[in-house]
Amino acid sequence: MSDTERATMVPEINPRITAYVESGCYVCQKYFANASSLRTHMRVFHFTELPPRPSGRSRPHSVKYVWKSKKQPHRRTLMGCPSCWFHCPLSFTRIARHIKECHMDPDHEGYEDPIDENESNFDDENFMDSSAATANIYAAMESLTGKFNSLFR
Ligand SMILES: [Zn+2]
Ligand SMILES: [Zn+2]
Repeated sequence: MSDTERATMVPEINPRITAYVESGCYVCQKYFANASSLRTHMRVFHFTELPPRPSGRSRPHSVKYVWKSKKQPHRRTLMGCPSCWFHCPLSFTRIARHIKECHMDPDHEGYEDPIDENESNFDDENFMDSSAATANIYAAMESLTGKFNSLFR
């Protein structure tokens, strides 16, 4: 039996979640295409010089997430640090704290473990979006039905 065959026979008990990591400016609360354009923005608009990520490396493997680009389908969106591989739930407040503590304070170690989202606190954005859309459609249909009823009265 080949390794590939063996791998497909083992059921995946804890499948990883597809996730995209955003690069957001916590001052403007705006998102950027990538970490380096965010660092440029921080330097030019906020006079904040942030160190680049270690070069030649991609985001470390995660047991919880499979990293996707913005254009690839993904279930979660996380907030990422433009200067290291730290990520946390999508919060400008939280990423601001990380950047200030780890990259703007020369006395600090400059490292913080990524914070995974708590599964029980997840609000699935895609799910929320689709249910909101469905609610809108129902509301629109109801108002249409109301109009028809008044026509035939
Ligand atoms: Zn900004
Ligand atoms: Zn960082």
